[in-house]
Amino acid sequence: MATSTIEWTEKTWNPIAGCTPVSPGCLNCYAAMMATRLAAMGQRKYDGTAEWRSGRAVFTGIINLDETALAIPCRVKKPTVWFVNSLSDLFHEGVPQDFRRRIFATMNESPQHQFQILTKRPQVALDVAADLTWTPNIWMGTTVENSAVIERAAVLSRIPAAIKFLSVEPMLGPIPDLPLDGIHWVIIGCESGPKKRPFENEWAVDVIEQCRNMDVAVFVKQVIVGKRVSHDPAEWSTSLRVREYPEY
Ligand code: SF4
Repeated sequence: MATSTIEWTEKTWNPIAGCTPVSPGCLNCYAAMMATRLAAMGQRKYDGTAEWRSGRAVFTGIINLDETALAIPCRVKKPTVWFVNSLSDLFHEGVPQDFRRRIFATMNESPQHQFQILTKRPQVALDVAADLTWTPNIWMGTTVENSAVIERAAVLSRIPAAIKFLSVEPMLGPIPDLPLDGIHWVIIGCESGPKKRPFENEWAVDVIEQCRNMDVAVFVKQVIVGKRVSHDPAEWSTSLRVREYPEY
């Protein structure tokens, strides 16, 4: 368990290590970079899960399960917002369904907490959804980094989670027709770091407008101010100054 620097959550919980890149949003995967670091620091569950290729950390597809992490949230009494598998994807094809059931059991037995699951594989989540128990404290999200993967939002809307959210991050292009039916919350953010790809604030403004039209809450992480990325809404133009959460 770790306190998170991600603005929209509080703590991270990683009972699974490892993943496989699946779409352009994975190119500069932060989780793969962290996995290489944590493996080098001796955290055995990250061994073999990621490696450096052409100057980038890349997941190898090896999935390691951490039984010792399964019950961590049950031991925390203080109500907390948890980002589930911040360094992997719970719905990766290599994760055994029985292990997913056990992760869900922890969430089901911890009503004091709120859990946020984010996947780039909502079809897998939908395929196994009936075999899992969706208590109201489980929020389910998918990443929509560009218009080529908008079908993920429509698939997500069919999953029986109480709150469904989209992570439009790293936003890699305009998304003029974001499917927002059945979606409660949208997070928008640009890529950061030395290999960041181009981002236009106008792309974010357009998605904010779409959310306003559909009465969907929006959380904007950061925008471009001059040549730098700013997390301070006071520096943003009025059209970008939105920081909202869905009702829970
Ligand atoms: S799905 Fe997420 S964790 Fe997996 S490679 Fe892509 S960005 Fe990284």
